[in-house]
Amino acid sequence: MNKLAILGGKPVGKFEMPSFPYYDESDVDAVADTMRSGVWGLGGAKQKELEEKFAAFCGVPYSVSASNGTVTLRMAMEALEIGPGDEVIVPGLTWQATAATVLDVNAVPILVDVDPETYTIDPKAIEAAITERTKCIIPVHLYGRMANMDELLAIADKHNLYIIEDCAHQQGARWDGKAAGSLGTIGSFSLQSSKILNSGEGGLLTTKDSRLSDLLHSLRFCGRAVREGAEAMQSGNFRLSELQAALAIVQLSRLEEQNAHREINATYIENQVSDIEGIKPMYRHPKITRQAFYNLTLRYDASAWEGVPKLKFLEALKAELDNESFHYGTTYEPLHMSPLYRPHSKKTHRLSETYWQQIDPRRFDLPVCKKAYEEESLNFMHMMLMTNREGCDIFVEAIKKLRANVGELAEFARK
Ligand SMILES: *Cc1c(COP(=O)(O)O)cnc(C)c1O
Repeated sequence: MNKLAILGGKPVGKFEMPSFPYYDESDVDAVADTMRSGVWGLGGAKQKELEEKFAAFCGVPYSVSASNGTVTLRMAMEALEIGPGDEVIVPGLTWQATAATVLDVNAVPILVDVDPETYTIDPKAIEAAITERTKCIIPVHLYGRMANMDELLAIADKHNLYIIEDCAHQQGARWDGKAAGSLGTIGSFSLQSSKILNSGEGGLLTTKDSRLSDLLHSLRFCGRAVREGAEAMQSGNFRLSELQAALAIVQLSRLEEQNAHREINATYIENQVSDIEGIKPMYRHPKITRQAFYNLTLRYDASAWEGVPKLKFLEALKAELDNESFHYGTTYEPLHMSPLYRPHSKKTHRLSETYWQQIDPRRFDLPVCKKAYEEESLNFMHMMLMTNREGCDIFVEAIKKLRANVGELAEFARK
């Protein structure tokens, strides 16, 4: 008789997936009221209210809203006057937008490896990549760990570099009490539909610098100055609609509580699985005082699991959880091998033969990113972390059961 559910045995239990996005009548009312007001875009008060509330949430004086978390990265670089001749250091393990927007401003993305313990940008790799052309670092607070902001700020200070924090995954994470997005020069956030703060689509920027705030306002608004006499820069339309802003305001009001809930569950699971051979939680730096989670990430060592590849492990795990809608997966494909990051597919990038060569992603060697993607990283989307203690226990028990039946798991993997 087989024990494992993937081979017809009885599952550990039914993991009930919490619904996402969460909303109630207050979200519906906020959108409906805005709709009834007849002010859906220009001239409305909602985007300003969102910017003020988000700035307060992050503990910064300025926040600027925008249409998504891709243009926010581009706007940040434009406000900092990053352009041709400049290099921007980006981790190889991230969504393609982090690097693609560097190309949008005609600068050169320099892909560097990540730290094997956190999968966030490796400070040593940054130091090794710095040249006299380096202008900026874009750390990504990836999945469920903040990048090491102490080390990044020290490097930026020493070499006179800007930091744009890509916080698309971690609205509300805190380093030493300070919010993600408030530590670097500019913070960039996404409100896209899979993110933990979500208005369908949307983006937000944060900064402590009033001049940068003025420039960002002009960049979102076709180059118009935010007030008379304010500095401005030519741009297009990257505005958020009032309906999106109205929804984001209500969603933001729940974020701190939801982040706390996800963190309690993630920490519990991390502690519970830390004694299981061949499974490791990511390293948590003691300066992280609030960790937000886009994914719960665990590290899998196939050599301790009789060589069972991680995707087979994940398939067997899902069967134990008895829920078709359980989300699991691996990391982003590293950018030096991602089918979505193709600088040479776009003619506007052909500025010169030299530039064309500089932006070739295959010139970078990123072994830690590659290993995370191919062998090691187990990723579980944030929805599961809104579960209760019982759900966490089912999840942990399922991993323990696979461990106890590793021989049978290996048999399944060979099939
Ligand atoms: C989602 C995401 C973005 C882009 O945000 P959009 O709102 O989808 O444009 C940028 N960086 C990272 C790391 C992301 O996950």
